[in-house]
Amino acid sequence: MTLRLHNTLTAAKDVFEPIEAGRAGMYTCGPTVWNYAHAGNLRAFLVYDLVRRHLQVSGYDVTHVMNLTDIDDRILDQAMHAGVTIGEYVKPYVAAFFEDMGALRAQPATHYPRATEHIPEMVEMITELIENQHAYVADGDVYFRIASFPTYGALSHLDRGGLRAGARIAADKYDKESVSDFALWKKAQPMDDKLGAAWDAPFGRGRPGWHIECSAMSKRYLGETLDIHAGGVDLMFPHHENEIAQSEAANHKQFARFWLHSEHLADATGEKMSKSAGGFTTLRDLSDAGHDPVAVRFFLLASAHYRTRLRLSTEALHAASEQVRRLREFADRVRRSAPGPIDDDDLLRRIGEVRAGYREALDDDLNLPQGVGLVFELAREANAAMDSGRIGERGRDALLQLIDDFDAHLDIVRSEEPGLAQEVERLIAEREAARKGHDFGRADQIREELRDKGIALEDSQDGVRWRRAR
Ligand SMILES: [Zn+2]
Repeated sequence: MTLRLHNTLTAAKDVFEPIEAGRAGMYTCGPTVWNYAHAGNLRAFLVYDLVRRHLQVSGYDVTHVMNLTDIDDRILDQAMHAGVTIGEYVKPYVAAFFEDMGALRAQPATHYPRATEHIPEMVEMITELIENQHAYVADGDVYFRIASFPTYGALSHLDRGGLRAGARIAADKYDKESVSDFALWKKAQPMDDKLGAAWDAPFGRGRPGWHIECSAMSKRYLGETLDIHAGGVDLMFPHHENEIAQSEAANHKQFARFWLHSEHLADATGEKMSKSAGGFTTLRDLSDAGHDPVAVRFFLLASAHYRTRLRLSTEALHAASEQVRRLREFADRVRRSAPGPIDDDDLLRRIGEVRAGYREALDDDLNLPQGVGLVFELAREANAAMDSGRIGERGRDALLQLIDDFDAHLDIVRSEEPGLAQEVERLIAEREAARKGHDFGRADQIREELRDKGIALEDSQDGVRWRRAR
């Protein structure tokens, strides 16, 4: 079976082949933790989860890196108003992000590098870019010189002539050579030290721009060429173009072989949802309105293909919830019912067809909605067959396999993550031991670690209990 993924770079569905057989390295742009993630961000994050899960189903050993942007202008602004450091300011939003991901059943990434913890890697890359003339210092800021990178715009298939002409007109308002040149490093402002947002560098004290963090951190964890880079379509220009320019100018190697972009989530009126636009919906809002996060997961992943726009509405969430209920009931019934006296050959053949069709749909650029459509058709037939005792031992086994097939992506049937309970119990025992040994630092660290997994601890008289944080 061949996996095809739509590659923005080639504007075609390309056969996926990693650099190293059996392994896939994927970098995805994570949240800027200045606030709660809105449903549009969550859609992109769940698409990463779908890509990753299907790579695993396809037999790849996946290394998934998702960055946390814990420094940017909005964070600085908010921290200044709150009178705290940026580290203190982002803390609750980082925790909330992991809670959301846990509640939505996204598999944890292999690494979640934070921008502020990788400044040396960024400084090193910027130094390299200055040395090879791809970047320049202007009044303490460092800019990438777009004119030095002739293929700039190739990802978004941008007309570079237009970009240049427009650039000349406005360029004199800035210290940079061209208005489209983008910042790699921003000179420290008087407040930045107090906010914990300034670092020393050979080109002057300051802080990194947003784009450079992805280039530096992806290299640190995945090397110079990524098998897959994914992100929301709104990041394609300029963020992803800038990542390509920085990485390729510094490393002299192709940055990413596959670029995957997920479409917007629109609100009920059809407007693109974004934090900057004001009104946005978080998972908390949806939970408060009574929507089960698992239904939200199903809605975001399975009600439309990831490259088509999706509109958030109460009706659509109710419909998703109903579909989750039907699939769970179906799975329950298959698991619990005793095999009937006969196995209907036609039905066995149909189950085989649907399993193959489901896999084909996923292999065709992750068409989960199409695959799930096949499952629903079959569930109707199988329910009727169970009513009349036409599903025997073999039919039941085949249906159980089909349930495993779709739940490998949807992850709505199981009630707990396999292995999670043991892992949590182990960490709780370690925390108890640490507390008895008065190693409260370690105990707190474990509580934090569990919180990152979306697990909350409750100390009670009968010992420690744990629950999903949402
Ligand atoms: Zn990025």
